[in-house]
Amino acid sequence: MKPMGPIPPGFIAAPDGSLAIGGRSAVELAREGTPLFVYDSALIAAKIDRFRAAMPPHVALHYAVKANPYAPLLTWLASKLDGFDLASAGELEKVASLGLPVSFAGPGKRDAELEAALHAGVTINLESEREAARALDIAERLGIAPKFAVRVNPPFALKGAGMRMGGLGTPFGVDADRAPTLVRLLLDSGADWRGLHVYAGSQSLNATAIIDLQRETLMLADRIAAEVGAGPPTVNLGGGFGIPHFAADRPLDLERVGEALGKELESRPKGTEYAVELGRWLVGEAGVYLTRVIDRKASGGRTFLVTDGGLHHMLAASGNFGQLLRRNYPIANATRFDEAPVEEVTVTGCLCTPLDLLGDEVMLPATEVGDLIAIFCAGAYGLTASPQGFLSQPVAREMLV
Ligand SMILES: *Cc1c(COP(=O)(O)O)cnc(C)c1O
Repeated sequence: MKPMGPIPPGFIAAPDGSLAIGGRSAVELAREGTPLFVYDSALIAAKIDRFRAAMPPHVALHYAVKANPYAPLLTWLASKLDGFDLASAGELEKVASLGLPVSFAGPGKRDAELEAALHAGVTINLESEREAARALDIAERLGIAPKFAVRVNPPFALKGAGMRMGGLGTPFGVDADRAPTLVRLLLDSGADWRGLHVYAGSQSLNATAIIDLQRETLMLADRIAAEVGAGPPTVNLGGGFGIPHFAADRPLDLERVGEALGKELESRPKGTEYAVELGRWLVGEAGVYLTRVIDRKASGGRTFLVTDGGLHHMLAASGNFGQLLRRNYPIANATRFDEAPVEEVTVTGCLCTPLDLLGDEVMLPATEVGDLIAIFCAGAYGLTASPQGFLSQPVAREMLV
């Protein structure tokens, strides 16, 4: 037997014994077809409430659209959050009509993307001097007063993060020692300088590491402001708040992060706005991927459950989305969520590759063909981060409840 990650809080059995998602039976939700992603809006609302209670009141909460761009989810989030952070013009199309402030980061923005962002009045987080020059030219040609922030590649990283995005040479942002010169150039050109953006890593469960990162980010913003001779109107502190996916993971102590940030901001002059941009922490634990068992077979002394899903929808659960070691995501029999685990099984998808593993030697209740298998932590980097075209399998359905 191999361990699995913890099932996120808030999931209980429905009266029919199946997994309840948003108060509805998984068996009912899956009646019109599997595979299916279900996102529970009440669980996301609880996360947002927790953020607001823990964080200083003037820290804006932005959503990083790349975590999950499902349109009904974006519409729902728009009424609860303070902004969207994008990384492509495609994402801009999805949020342009939703009425929230938008900022657009990401390397390799094409001219047409910069143009679309300028037309939409979006804040463009500039990733290089060359991109800045291009964006200024395009703004001038269009006769639009541009809103620019500078993304800074910090000389530090989020310690122990699942994905480091700072402290090294990277395609993201302008190296910190060159940021003041770029900000000056923007100010001299008459652009509306919206401030600084620092993003140094993802998926941290370590409150101390995030507290250190936020303090270093604020100190970096102070140094840049001093060199420029002007304070940034906004500082986007990035995010990096993680969720538990695997057996040894413990949840992030958000309240400790909020308390420390409150103390840091207390001593700073008013007039600068702060933002945190989160993806997985907001929506990851609220999503469940439901697949149906198509075959049950014995081979080499092991029991295999073959499902109608797979890594083409949920790459991360197969261990192939940036993980060094494959470990089991939380997984359950969603048809018999109220039954105790009694057998060791290996759950696979339906793709012709041994990589297509959803649960390796996990303990489940006695499972039959036709039962539903639930993979948890599927609300972020699920369908959107998976190779849906691989093997020309059907697309998965999605649903917000
Ligand atoms: C990916 C990304 C995020 C969201 O990361 P999560 O780990 O989902 O919170 C936020 N900001 C930037 C710049 C990113 O690239």
